[in-house]
Parts: sequence; C-alpha cells; structure tokens
Amino acid sequence: GERDWQQARELFGGARRITALTGAGVSTASGIPDFRGPNGVWTKDPTAQRLSDIDSYVSDPAVREQAWRSRAEHPAWTAQPNAAHRAFVDLDRAGRLRALLTQNIDELHQRAGLDPDRVLELHGTIHQVVCLDCGELSPMRAALERVAAGEADPPCRSCGGILKSATISFGQALDPEVVRAAQRAALDCDLFVAAGTSLTVHPAAGLAELAVKAGAQLVICNAEPTPYDELAAAVLRGPLDEVLPELVAAPLTEPPQP
Ligand code: NAD
Ligand code: ZN
Repeated sequence: GERDWQQARELFGGARRITALTGAGVSTASGIPDFRGPNGVWTKDPTAQRLSDIDSYVSDPAVREQAWRSRAEHPAWTAQPNAAHRAFVDLDRAGRLRALLTQNIDELHQRAGLDPDRVLELHGTIHQVVCLDCGELSPMRAALERVAAGEADPPCRSCGGILKSATISFGQALDPEVVRAAQRAALDCDLFVAAGTSLTVHPAAGLAELAVKAGAQLVICNAEPTPYDELAAAVLRGPLDEVLPELVAAPLTEPPQP
C-alpha cells in the first residue's frame, strides 16, 4: 500500500550500502518466464522440474538430450535487459550498491552494464557449460553448435565426461565461495532488497533473514507474497521494471542516526 511506498522510498533515500537479491521476476519483463509465478515454467508443467534434477540428468541420457534441446531454445539467448536490470546499474554508479546477489542464470544484470565484480551468481550461468567429471568450463555457444550439428548429448572434449550447463540443479551444492561472499554482503549492508524472487529456494532465501538479523532493513519487491514478508519494513507488489527505477530515483536523505 501507500505506506509501504513511503517507507521504501525513505529507506532507499537513506541507504548507502545496499545489497540486493534478485530472482526470475526481474527478467520476466525481458521475456524469460519465471518458475513459480502464474506463467511459470513449473506452474504450467510440473514435470519440467525433473529436467533440473541432477540425479536424473546424470543417470538418464534421455533427460540430457531433452535438456540440450530445450537449452537451444532458451529465451535467454535473445532476451534484452529491462528497466529493472538498469536500475541496479544506476545504483552502482551512484556508489550505493554493496553487491548484487542473483539466482538468475541469464547474465542480464551484466548485459545491462552492471560491473561483473559486483555480481554474485548463486545459481551459476547458462552461458557456460561444465564437465561433471573433470570440471572444465567452456562456452555454451560451442556446446549448442555441437548439438545443432547432430550430437544429441555432446561429451566433454577433454575427458569424455558428461557436460551440463554451468547452473545449479536440484541436488547440486552451490559454490561455497560464492555463498560465503553472499553472506558477507548480506551481513554488511544497511538495506537488503529482495526483488522478483519467491524466496523459497535455500540458501538464497535465507540471506534476507541473515541481513535483518545483522541489523539491515529489508524491502521486498515481488508480485506475490513470500515467506519473509513479515520481516520486511516494506513490501511492494508492482511490476519490477517500474518499481525498481522509482525506488533507485528516490531523493537521497541523511542516513538515520544509529
Ligand atoms: P520464482 O519463479 O520462484 O519466483 C519469481 C517471483 O517473481 C514470483 O513470486 C513472481 O510473482 C515474481 N514476479 C515475476 N515477474 C514479476 C514482475 N514483473 N514484477 C514483480 N514480481 C514478479 O523464481 P526465483 O525465486 O528466482 O527461484 C527460481 C529458481 O529458478 C532460481 O533458482 C533461478 O536460478 C531459476 N530461474 C532463473 C531464471 C532466469 O535466470 N531468468 C528464470 C527462471 C528460473
Ligand atoms: Zn571433462
């Protein structure tokens, strides 16, 4: 409501070290569907979740072939960043962004112009592939060219192992160094913004609570309720490509005295 807007504008105006956590909702306006929203990939087809499960991927060649086919058609290859992504670039250029933690794998934050050093990709990137056996990273583009040329499930060129997009599937651990850096950024901010995430996937979701426990204010921008709404000083439900630019443009005020 209006009170949340007023509160959120004041918090943004007073914040000097903002850590943001973004999810699929910041990219829906770029044409990449989320998972759990009304038009989400899993909302429409719950069996699609199986494609994101590491055990089925490793044990079932048919799952891998399906995964490669759908990779080739992923909307991320043609998507353009939107005003929500650009809002974080503005925040960073104003020297106010401590870190941007994202669950997205589309690299649209960086393509909008955000300093890659500022971005922590908790769930990896779809723009690279990793060998599950030797760990070698290589460009997704090269793997998709092999798929297009007829290899249904291209093996690693170095060791013959199984290749997979360098994203975190269910059953896979996050990179512990990325998680630690994300925790540091959550502990070291005056405002934590969760935007376009259902806050249901851990450990990403728990970062909001960690920040609040360390004394940060929490603003949640998401179309649907999240399990952390009660911890938030303000909850905004509007479209992110409008909400985020407006918050970032909120006039700066003196930070509140501790
Ligand atoms: P999610 O699908 O669980 O939640 C997205 C939330 O964003 C929903 O609650 C929805 O109501 C909200 N939302 C969608 N569009 C919005 C808009 N325009 N304005 C305001 N709110 C909007 O996504 P999640 O929390 O990020 O977790 C899903 C997992 O799926 C993550 O692990 C992520 O790695 C992966 N994923 C990534 C992408 C991507 O890279 N773009 C896309 C789909 C899924
Ligand atoms: Zn290998």
